[in-house]
Amino acid sequence: MHEWALAEAVIEAAVEDARKEGMTRIREITVRIGELQQIELDPFTFALDEIIKLHGELLQHAQVKLEDEPAIFKCRVCSTEWHYQKASLNEAEGEAIHFAPEVAHAYMRCPRCKSPDFEVLQGRGVTIQRITGLK
Ligand SMILES: [Zn+2]
Repeated sequence: MHEWALAEAVIEAAVEDARKEGMTRIREITVRIGELQQIELDPFTFALDEIIKLHGELLQHAQVKLEDEPAIFKCRVCSTEWHYQKASLNEAEGEAIHFAPEVAHAYMRCPRCKSPDFEVLQGRGVTIQRITGLK
């Protein structure tokens, strides 16, 4: 299960960070989810809750806050940056990119110079934005 594995990775990383910081209890973990990340939010939050329950004292009563990370692209030719939403795609193309960010290059062009040579600056993956807790 993709969502479960992701949730496990997030919690493990959070626990490791909290230990490094010398926290004795985690209060809140803020997780950013990239717009291009293929993830079902319901099973993901369910998995997070279940995994938190399995952990001991460190994670007792810990809350997970989810934030969206918008996708941003940058043209390698003219350095223009643009957002995913602003790219003119039809619905099917948008879906294709959502499920496989790699195909973005097949559908999208730089809005300024029309080059297909661009990079994804952000909006992929799941990252821990911050952890708050007690020391
Ligand atoms: Zn360009």
